[in-house]
Amino acid sequence: MDKGLPGFTLGNDQKMMGLRGTSHLELWFDNVLLEPVALLGDEGRGLQQALSALGRVRLAQVGARAVGKASHVLQLMVDYAGQRKQFGKPIADFQLVQQMLADSVIEINSARLMVLHAAWMIDQGLDARDWISMVKVQAAETLGRVTDRAVQVFGGMGFCKELPIERYYRDARIYRIFDGTSEIHRTVIARCVVKRGAALFDVNA
Ligand SMILES: Cc1cc2nc3c(=O)[nH]c(=O)nc-3n(C[C@H](O)[C@H](O)[C@H](O)COP(=O)(O)OP(=O)(O)OC[C@H]3O[C@@H](n4cnc5c(N)ncnc54)[C@H](O)[C@@H]3O)c2cc1C
Repeated sequence: MDKGLPGFTLGNDQKMMGLRGTSHLELWFDNVLLEPVALLGDEGRGLQQALSALGRVRLAQVGARAVGKASHVLQLMVDYAGQRKQFGKPIADFQLVQQMLADSVIEINSARLMVLHAAWMIDQGLDARDWISMVKVQAAETLGRVTDRAVQVFGGMGFCKELPIERYYRDARIYRIFDGTSEIHRTVIARCVVKRGAALFDVNA
């Protein structure tokens, strides 16, 4: 749909707490008439097409991207914890800091393996929709926990705009919301597991 089409107008550019490098415009449609050439795919199959594209988007742009971002943030945490000294030693020597690093790497690698497994299922031509919902929740919530710990490990500097940590923290929050909220994906997963039991986790079932 081209800009300038009668009835199609742009609304507010919503100011957001994160992802400030992107714009989030309202689109208004008022009796817009389209030529047949504007149709993407087959008539009457729009929802099916959109849902099939959304699965891959969730896996790549949410799941894989969240794992990549969380890995980068963990590396920043590890580097900082090795350099920052308190009480005469690097904060990486304190067990409570080590716990934040350990939990982060466990959760990131769990999410990473889930992303790879869902991608493998798609490559095999298997139906990966349930797995993608699980990946979406796991990767999004891992990114949230890791960026939250990053603010903590960086201490006061984690809260300051001089470093990128506070931006990673703000940007992470949308991952639990866009492309289906965690609640909606949990609802989908619960429906599947109630129907199929533990076989949900068995790719041969
Ligand atoms: C920066 C940004 C980028 C976005 N990008 C995209 C995009 O690329 N593609 C796209 O399609 N959308 C995108 N969205 C929209 C996003 O997917 C929606 O905001 C999201 O799906 C939630 O819908 P909603 O805002 O209408 O919230 P609502 O549906 O009103 O939900 C509000 C709350 O109620 C809960 N809730 C709603 N229904 C249920 C239920 N049945 N059971 C339990 N809890 C429920 C929700 O989980 C949430 O906590 C984007 C949004 C933002 C802010």
